[in-house]
Amino acid sequence: MQKKVLRTLILVGLLGFCACGKAEDGKDAGATKAPVEMENPSDEISPTDAPEATATPEPTPLPADETAPELTLLGDATMKVVARTEFVDPGFTAVDDRDGDVAAQVQVSGEVNVNWCDTYTLTYTVSDAAGNVSTVERVVEVAQPETVVPEGKVIYMTFDDGPGDNTRELLKILDKYQVKVTFFVCANGVEYLYPEIKAGGHTLGAHCGTHNYDVVYASDEAYFKDLETIMNAIYEKTGEYTTLLRFPGGSSNKVSKICPGIMTRITEKVTKMGYQYFDWHVDSGDSSTKDTAEILEIMKREVQKRNCSIVLQHPEHRDFSLAAVEDFIVWALDNGYTFLPLDPTSPNAHHRVNN
Ligand SMILES: [Zn+2]
Repeated sequence: MQKKVLRTLILVGLLGFCACGKAEDGKDAGATKAPVEMENPSDEISPTDAPEATATPEPTPLPADETAPELTLLGDATMKVVARTEFVDPGFTAVDDRDGDVAAQVQVSGEVNVNWCDTYTLTYTVSDAAGNVSTVERVVEVAQPETVVPEGKVIYMTFDDGPGDNTRELLKILDKYQVKVTFFVCANGVEYLYPEIKAGGHTLGAHCGTHNYDVVYASDEAYFKDLETIMNAIYEKTGEYTTLLRFPGGSSNKVSKICPGIMTRITEKVTKMGYQYFDWHVDSGDSSTKDTAEILEIMKREVQKRNCSIVLQHPEHRDFSLAAVEDFIVWALDNGYTFLPLDPTSPNAHHRVNN
């Protein structure tokens, strides 16, 4: 009974001070003894009985931060990108248990060159304020597109060395039968009809800047300078690049022997650069004969040897070759063939490289 009275007195005294915060003399209330008369000074107050308001709260120190931010890739950790198409990094999230969203601090090292087929690694790193570091990697493979083999009997007509005097007439014939083909064009100074060719739904491929073999195959550098000329010409006239190309004389040509080994090197290099080079299964023969009937017979006979044929013709400068085009289209359509334009996924017809 005596203890209970004592405790009540202490509480009342303390609350009186705490309510005003400071004693009248300006001294800190917490440092001032409460005016309590204790009937029995030896009656100690246990720690659990003491009012907490008298203690200045000490901030509890957090345990050391040993947790790194959680760094998470968006998208796949292993990606495949078709060469010469855009690579867009899908991004990441980075959250730290103490610092919150730290995505803005993420550093990305490494690069992806879509113009060179290879495997690239991107490394993402982020640290929190305490210096805990998180690292993740993304592997990006830049590669040629997968080949898609078309169903049924297919003919890929390819016309080289244009545009020329017959190009408009040729486009009319193709349009009449709604046949789509591929033009491997030159930048030969004659009227550029690249936009008209594209407008017809045909594929534009790069052949060469100049068809002078001694110039094109003088050196590796000379070849790539010529390739750049025709690629840029196509881009300037159409607003789009092409990845399709055909070597002057084809990849099996021997006219390039002036530069030993050049075809071995440049066929490999253009492929690594993400271009697709196309040779042919069927040579119409229009470089060795001027006989229209013979050209027609060669094409009819040779395309029957496989389901899918790439046919080479040069009708844009050669009237005798142009004269075979319509009859061949009519025959092929009557015999269940479909004409398709080449695209980067088309099956190619690589010849054996001889130099
Ligand atoms: Zn040619």
